[in-house]
Amino acid sequence: MQNYLTPNFAFAPVIPERAAGSRVWDTEGREYIDLAGGIAVNALGHCHPALIEALKEQAEKLWHISNIYTTVPAQQLARKLTEHTFADKVFLCNSGAEANEAALKLARKYARDHFGGEKNEIIACVNAFHGRTLFTVSVGGQPKYSQDFAPLPPAITHVPFNDAEALAAAISDKTCAVIIEPIQGESGVLPAEQAFLQAARQACDVHNALLIFDEVQTGMGRTGKLFAYQHYDVVPDILTSAKALGSGFPIGAMLTTDAIAPSFGPGTHGTTFGGNPLACAVANRAFDVIHTPQTLQQVTDNGLKLQKELAALGRETGVFKEVRGIGLLIGCVLADQYAGRAGELMQQALRHGLMVLVAGSNVVRLAPSLLLSEEDRQEGLTRLKAAIDAWLPV
Ligand SMILES: *Cc1c(COP(=O)(O)O)cnc(C)c1O
Repeated sequence: MQNYLTPNFAFAPVIPERAAGSRVWDTEGREYIDLAGGIAVNALGHCHPALIEALKEQAEKLWHISNIYTTVPAQQLARKLTEHTFADKVFLCNSGAEANEAALKLARKYARDHFGGEKNEIIACVNAFHGRTLFTVSVGGQPKYSQDFAPLPPAITHVPFNDAEALAAAISDKTCAVIIEPIQGESGVLPAEQAFLQAARQACDVHNALLIFDEVQTGMGRTGKLFAYQHYDVVPDILTSAKALGSGFPIGAMLTTDAIAPSFGPGTHGTTFGGNPLACAVANRAFDVIHTPQTLQQVTDNGLKLQKELAALGRETGVFKEVRGIGLLIGCVLADQYAGRAGELMQQALRHGLMVLVAGSNVVRLAPSLLLSEEDRQEGLTRLKAAIDAWLPV
């Protein structure tokens, strides 16, 4: 098929056309098991009936209204997010990058309002991923995503992930924010250590800096809790969400406290589409399905089973040296002799009717539906085994 889109994506050789639950069919009628969850987005699988219903209901009521008005779906969603987290106030937007952009702007503004313009430095982690706007690629710790777009916004430094000493050495009274993914998603599904997050919280308190947790990938039930910080007992000042928040419909959110929110006074920041009624209606319904003891328990149970089965497959074939992650955000680290070849295995999986993700070039990443059935999990593993067998002799 002729490709009319800019070449910044390397598209796979198949074209998905329709989907239901954890199954996807392409334009040739071939079927796939989706253990990628889109890209860690379709938390309730594809075309969940409750989400279709919410979308259709809202589609007949109101799609968009000027942002000089608030709407019932937006207020309902923000209320749910604040009632079940540390947060008191929510800024709604359309994506993870926008949520992080808002978080970083708010941190700069809050520091300026309370401590003056000199307090503007941002500390992030090496290999972090925070989105693709110029500010978020600059804060992200992967120069390959930012260097070609220089000049970049200044006053951003990077410390190694999970290195509390490096963070302590880098932070100062000029730091306005420290931003961390509780599990580094894109760069290898690497969970933060408890001690690192605790040290970050402490250092931020000492230096009056805000702690931002980027939970765009880890949030909304993906780890078996509503947000991953709830595993760690370390509470941020700002938290960002997107991906699973709309479970397939674009929406992002930045959560913060009553103490910090006033720095986003009228006119300081904005968005045309953020918090639109369609997105909020879907996110509201997704929240109701995700935030139940049953769903969250299912994520924990299914995550443990899947991790165990993947580890066994890794041992049996010698392909994975480690399987890590929390809940249903799982990284399979390639054995040393296959280092750098995760992309090949992903392509091989697709040929065997299985969608997976990579995280960097050494890790095969899985982020399936939180409602993944026993049958789909088993069939997914069978197809992964077939893909590995076909790939191995080369
Ligand atoms: C995907 C992701 C983003 C960017 O989200 P977009 O919706 O693509 O802008 C930011 N942070 C993390 C941790 C992510 O996984």
